[in-house]
Amino acid sequence: MSINLFMARPTDNNIAYLQIFLLGWFEKNGRKFPWRNPSATNYEKIISEVLLQRTKAETVAKFFPDFIKEYPSWYKLGDASEQELQDILKPIGLYKQRGARLFNLAQELKKRNGIFPKERNQVEEIPMMGQYLTNAYELFILKRPSPLLDVNMARVIERYFGPRKMADIRYDPYLQNLSRKLVDNPKTKEINWAVLDYSALICKAKMPLCYDCELNAKCSFCRDQFNS
Ligand code: SF4
Repeated sequence: MSINLFMARPTDNNIAYLQIFLLGWFEKNGRKFPWRNPSATNYEKIISEVLLQRTKAETVAKFFPDFIKEYPSWYKLGDASEQELQDILKPIGLYKQRGARLFNLAQELKKRNGIFPKERNQVEEIPMMGQYLTNAYELFILKRPSPLLDVNMARVIERYFGPRKMADIRYDPYLQNLSRKLVDNPKTKEINWAVLDYSALICKAKMPLCYDCELNAKCSFCRDQFNS
């Protein structure tokens, strides 16, 4: 394979190129999950994002239908104790942390009759929401461009365009700005899913499939690997 080693800078043109590439790739290769179904409720979308944090989507997909059957709404979830939630979450791991998060979120949403505030800054103030879940809320419920920026999205962006400056994704202005630009598109939801699927199937944490990756000609990570 010959690799043309021109590094992609985060210019508008290069971001647009990546958007088009990802959308095309997603159309053919995107994964299907229950929370991505058009019929998924807002409740299901937020719950899935809590479950997906630091857990493989395939693991969550096996667990999700039964969980939703048991707790189909914020009201039903709000009736469960923290211990009960921790017990049911054991098969997918991180059960203490996730149990506490779901319990506190459900209590808050129960008080609010299952309705989130309409503005991002008010949602961010809800205990246990945090930046990632607020972004998910903005994307899926307010239907505004917003990045599902986690370690997986960060990995694809940093490998392609170059590394961040700060350790914590939440405070790194480079990653924050670049991820927002990347998903700023009428198909923002699909680009978000495309990045996450690309990170799981091609740009994997260990042993990325760079030889098969159509982005390798401009990818910073690939360039460094072949120059070292
Ligand atoms: S070339 Fe490799 S590191 Fe770069 S985006 Fe593709 S899979 Fe990821």
